[in-house]
Amino acid sequence: MRCALRFIGSTCDIAVISDDGDFAFEHSLALPDTYSALLTSLYDILKGADPSGRVKFVGVSLSGDYSPKTERLYCPSIALINDQNLKADLQASLNREVFIASHAHILAKSANQLPEFKSATNIFSLYLDDEVCAGQLVNQTLVTGANGLAGNWGHICLPWPVEFELEDRDCACGRSGCLGLFVSRAALSREYLLLSEREVPAETVFAQAEQGDIVAESAIQVFEDRLARGLAMVINLMDPEVIVLSGRMSQPSRLFINIPRKWPGYVRGGANATRLVGFANTPEEMRRLCLLGAASLENIEAV
Ligand SMILES: [Zn+2]
Repeated sequence: MRCALRFIGSTCDIAVISDDGDFAFEHSLALPDTYSALLTSLYDILKGADPSGRVKFVGVSLSGDYSPKTERLYCPSIALINDQNLKADLQASLNREVFIASHAHILAKSANQLPEFKSATNIFSLYLDDEVCAGQLVNQTLVTGANGLAGNWGHICLPWPVEFELEDRDCACGRSGCLGLFVSRAALSREYLLLSEREVPAETVFAQAEQGDIVAESAIQVFEDRLARGLAMVINLMDPEVIVLSGRMSQPSRLFINIPRKWPGYVRGGANATRLVGFANTPEEMRRLCLLGAASLENIEAV
């Protein structure tokens, strides 16, 4: 038996999963006000779900950067756990070994287990939702880096900016112009707001564009170009065979046609050998795959 935690927005999903991958227990915890209350709540929930102590370890999926070497956690979108020594504190509280990885790392590993991507040796995974995080898998091994920063794509500056594009884009990390500020759900809502003076969720912007709303279409084209630039930078740097997109911002099928079409403008010779694919296409599938992946984190090697 394994326990998996998924931190997402203001909640923490908890699951106890059998070695065969069956969900024996599931619960969604609203994040409490304090870090100590979080640790206490998780202890109480796991004790109730596993009274006989069959769960041997806990895997954690979150949107952030975690270095197994330094044990430093950078997760500015969830202030409650940001900069905390989450691994050591959970281990002490739950009395089990704890493993931590980002949603993107976990989904890169999950995608690599699919027959169609089994032979891929270089996979880049990008999770686009309210939060943005990325991960890289090379030769079936997660790349976390010397400082745990290998997936820190969302806090690289938007490449090839046009005039004024980086202005008024302050990030939680303390810098400005970070990619995550241009490709998240909030980013598309903001772009539409700037053009229309109406505030709607990103999904509504996509739906309105489908119905012929030219303002929504304009906002999406700006979003697509920014995402294409951010991914072109990845191709120029590491040239992956597969780029896996997940999260609610990756659901519209138009992205998988329009974004590769933009790459020749930013990548010399284009990037015909790089496949851009969607993964974990619904919130429920995303939840399940992140929990299953977190539950098998003990088997994941990272460099
Ligand atoms: Zn940033």
